[in-house]
Amino acid sequence: MADEFVIEADGLIKRYGDFTAVGGVSFQVKRGEVFGLLGPNGAGKTTTMEMIEGLRRPDGGRALVDGFDTVSQLEKVKAIIGVQLQSTSLFDLLTVREITEMYASFYKKSVPVEPLLESMILTEKASARVKHLSGGQKQRLAVALALVNDPLVVFLDEPTTGLDPQARRTLWDIVLKLKEQGKTVVLSTHYMDEAHILCDRICLMDQGSVIALDTPANLIRGLAADKTVEFQMPAFAAMDDDRQERVLGWLGGLAAVSSVEKRQEGFVLYSGDLQSTLTALVSGADGHGLQLEGLSTRTATLEDVFIQMTGRSLREA
Ligand code: ATP
Repeated sequence: MADEFVIEADGLIKRYGDFTAVGGVSFQVKRGEVFGLLGPNGAGKTTTMEMIEGLRRPDGGRALVDGFDTVSQLEKVKAIIGVQLQSTSLFDLLTVREITEMYASFYKKSVPVEPLLESMILTEKASARVKHLSGGQKQRLAVALALVNDPLVVFLDEPTTGLDPQARRTLWDIVLKLKEQGKTVVLSTHYMDEAHILCDRICLMDQGSVIALDTPANLIRGLAADKTVEFQMPAFAAMDDDRQERVLGWLGGLAAVSSVEKRQEGFVLYSGDLQSTLTALVSGADGHGLQLEGLSTRTATLEDVFIQMTGRSLREA
């Protein structure tokens, strides 16, 4: 494995009975990057991570971490990785300091506990029992426990799910600090904003497969239509089916429009060239006597990448 890469996943497969949860996933993770697995619930992110962590045995393919095979050299892999446990599986009755010291004792080499707690903004809570922590504090403790052995690679599985916006931001800062310290971070999420902000590269997964892998900017730039025009058309709801069809056909045929989505909150046109789409839309609406409201434009997001590639939303998929 080239030294540039610290993880190599090669054709990983996991089946449960007849169901293929991960159907041949391959990617490489560079040293020191934050690498995101982004996809809807059930995409296979956790299963893929657990095969790389050596927690689940692949039915096909293999994974290497710093050159060590996660099946045949599991002990070597365990020594150089840190895995964030789901915060629900922490021991409720221990204090933050006790649980961290206990985890540190599992390893031959560990980092000092107090500075570790300080870096996770947990010093004030060091003597508090786990059951008295907030959701964000529990997640930060789970990250602290993943770091006790000073790992080369840290795995974070949906670290901010269920947290309020402020707790999410605090965790994002922690992830960015880990990167500054030179750690490689592999993180799974179904939040596109989180993936965009934190990840150097994103592996977009759906139904057990990799559907795209690149930097967030390149994923968005790769869309044929990387801008959107959004608006409401109040008269649409009252039209008969025929007229609705014709309006949708007209919108789809507008200059530079690659696709049209009708959402509950209004219409979304994906466009490769805003100016020509807007001009055609506004003059056409005038000509048809249709009133448009709430007209706005924006640059496409990772959510749009997912929608254009799968026809479904990350949230609804
Ligand atoms: P989530 O965000 O919901 O955790 P995910 O992308 O991490 O989603 P996985 O947890 O890897 O997805 O699950 C992938 C698929 O495999 C899902 O359809 C899930 O129901 C199924 N699956 C996972 N573990 C098992 C198991 N032990 N037995 C049977 N099916 C499983």
